[in-house]
Amino acid sequence: MPHPRRLIWFCQTEHVAKQPEQLALLRDEIGLTTIMPESPICHTSGFRASPEVAARGPFEDWRERGEAWPKVSEGIYPPVSGVIGGFDDTDLCRVIEAASAAGIEVWGHIGLWSYGGDVYPEHALRTIDGASLDTRYSRWGIGLCPSREAINQWTKDGLVDIAQRYDVDGFCVDHARYPQPASVSALAACGCASCVEEGTTLGFDVAILHQALRDTVRRVRDIKGSRLQQLARDRLSPEQLWAALEISPHVTEWFQMRSALLAKQMQHFREGVQQIDASMVFGCDIFAPSVSLFGGHDLALWETATDYITGGSSAGGVVGWATASTNAAFEWTRSLAEVTQGAEADWLELTLQVLGVDDLAIPRDIEALDQGRDLPIEELYDREIARLVADTNDRVPLYPPVSAGGDPERTRRLCRSIADHGGHGAMMTLAPDRKETLRAIQEGFGA
Ligand SMILES: [Zn+2]
Repeated sequence: MPHPRRLIWFCQTEHVAKQPEQLALLRDEIGLTTIMPESPICHTSGFRASPEVAARGPFEDWRERGEAWPKVSEGIYPPVSGVIGGFDDTDLCRVIEAASAAGIEVWGHIGLWSYGGDVYPEHALRTIDGASLDTRYSRWGIGLCPSREAINQWTKDGLVDIAQRYDVDGFCVDHARYPQPASVSALAACGCASCVEEGTTLGFDVAILHQALRDTVRRVRDIKGSRLQQLARDRLSPEQLWAALEISPHVTEWFQMRSALLAKQMQHFREGVQQIDASMVFGCDIFAPSVSLFGGHDLALWETATDYITGGSSAGGVVGWATASTNAAFEWTRSLAEVTQGAEADWLELTLQVLGVDDLAIPRDIEALDQGRDLPIEELYDREIARLVADTNDRVPLYPPVSAGGDPERTRRLCRSIADHGGHGAMMTLAPDRKETLRAIQEGFGA
């Protein structure tokens, strides 16, 4: 059976509640099929947890954590796993009703693990050496440990509770990942006892994987600057480079284990909601394919754990696809140049090679990459879409992310990339009253 085509609007609950007529407009203008509403106040679609679920919530005391979460003063909830109690769901109910009247699906939205560790340090990711994540990388997220059984069970109960009480057609959960791989510190997490236990249950020899990471760090520190310069010039394939740097296959296995830990939870969540309604789809946004394995998303495995693949945004920020590799490249380069004898320029070249984007016109300039300046966004994005299709097995539909709010020509090209590579639609952010955006989407998908 061919995969369903979908255009999904990643929208604000409060916005759509005020202008519900935009749903029919988008349905008619661009073929909108689905919305994924999120409230920027509570970071879910705006669900009100039932009193029984809220009573067991591990994050209900967030209002007393103003020191770690200053947005308490604005009434903004911390981004944590599950559904916190007490939110007024009037706007969401209005949105669900309007979507139903317009024949548009609603995907519910809740958060999981990649943030919140700074507000709840007792549940935060730990490195394999037991340390907290380095706050130098906090812009990429200070995450929660994904293996706390009590939190995961409570999160699942919250999803089941929502599936029973709200008329949603599925879920697109957020933060189902580790922090962006640009966080060098987060790459070596989580090493806590719960994650060791879970990894062992999944069949991994976790002690060997931890040791492989430590050995790799030691070996990389010892590489001579001249050797590195030569490697940067040789332009090897990522696999050859991995071998030349003598990086153990156990390092790859470490990242596969991290993915497997998340995928197992995703399967549990999916089972829970589909026991309520077998027609509900369940999935999440993933990191761009160039870095996805490093962030907890082994794509082939993810296809077995979720019902579709999508992403957060097309460029910029923590989840932007076009900028995922360049963000990782500059942070990795800075960190490597700091602790090794190699020159920054050589490390930058090598990291771009490892990420498979060294042939693109990317500025060899750390500051420019840090600020996202002068990047070939459309080419980087197209590379990610090509890789998404190549690295998956056509088991689930692919809805890559398109941030359609800016330059219409860029929007048209991003949509064209998806259409050209055989994607099945998109997850879009857009302003419905901008006619030029809607036209660009129509043209890009050739509809
Ligand atoms: Zn852990």
